[in-house]
Amino acid sequence: METVLSIKGLSKQYGRVRALDNLNLEVKKGDVFGILGPNGSGKTTTLGIILSVINQTSGQFEWFGEKANKDTRKTIGAILEHPIFYPYLTAVQNLKIVCDIKEVPYARVDEVLTQVGLDERKDTKFKTFSLGMKQRLSIASALLCNPTVMILDEPTNGLDPQGIAEIRELIIEIANSGKTIIIASHLLDEVQKVCSHFCVLQRGKLIYNGLVEDVGKGSVSVEVKADHDDLQTVLEASGLGTTVKRELDKYIIKMEGDHSAAEVNAYLFKQGITAKHLLVQSKSLEKQFLEILAGNKEGGAQ
Ligand code: ADP
Ligand code: MG
Repeated sequence: METVLSIKGLSKQYGRVRALDNLNLEVKKGDVFGILGPNGSGKTTTLGIILSVINQTSGQFEWFGEKANKDTRKTIGAILEHPIFYPYLTAVQNLKIVCDIKEVPYARVDEVLTQVGLDERKDTKFKTFSLGMKQRLSIASALLCNPTVMILDEPTNGLDPQGIAEIRELIIEIANSGKTIIIASHLLDEVQKVCSHFCVLQRGKLIYNGLVEDVGKGSVSVEVKADHDDLQTVLEASGLGTTVKRELDKYIIKMEGDHSAAEVNAYLFKQGITAKHLLVQSKSLEKQFLEILAGNKEGGAQ
């Protein structure tokens, strides 16, 4: 698949704060790519840089294999913050102003309003809109010049559950229409519901990059303690794990396939070794991310 965005070694320093630290990422055509991380992890900074709104301290990025330029920018629709619309103007009037700025024919206004489900409210003043409707209008505004890439920063922040569901549905529809989408979010749930691929940022560092469908899967490790001179070799020879590492007085086996702790126990017993301690450490990615997103000791910036 064609590479839409390629980020190489991107860093951003704000005084003493390293907001982004050597980020490498690739987004392919058709991906719905989530950038997941707790507050302050560098999501907005990343989006700002790839939209050429913020200057990076070092590193590069390319859109469609080119340095960002006027043409690449035209193919990107973005909603970085709640955009400012005129409260006393209607949806249509507001979007016509955007058409003037972006040099897009007015005919697009009705099309995008239908696309975001605001056609029935198109002649209503902006100030009467619910937050969800306001967000849909910003999406409509970003869609006006028919971009191939859509960038959304925390698109459901502040919305009620129904508004959240509607916006997520809309994002999925836009993705199905063939656009590549990049979404920053601090909600694992949102990323799981909407995205195909995602990465996780923690204090500006990339700590995960993969498929959303892999999230539920967990790797199981088994902790073992036993009196034996060379437990490491014995465990390695078992063929039950991919790696065995020592941690103080115990050994941790990363289990291969669906081998179980019971098999480790049976194997040791056969070797004439009695396990004094056997503990399954099962930690799905989901659990790990939720801990990070909840901003535990390791999570969040400062
Ligand atoms: P996120 O969007 O993931 O919440 P941000 O990219 O907004 O994170 O922020 C990343 C880090 O950079 C945070 O520590 C934040 O305080 C800091 N930061 C962001 N913008 C600025 C700025 N203009 N000046 C100084 N520090 C900033
Ligand atoms: Mg942010």
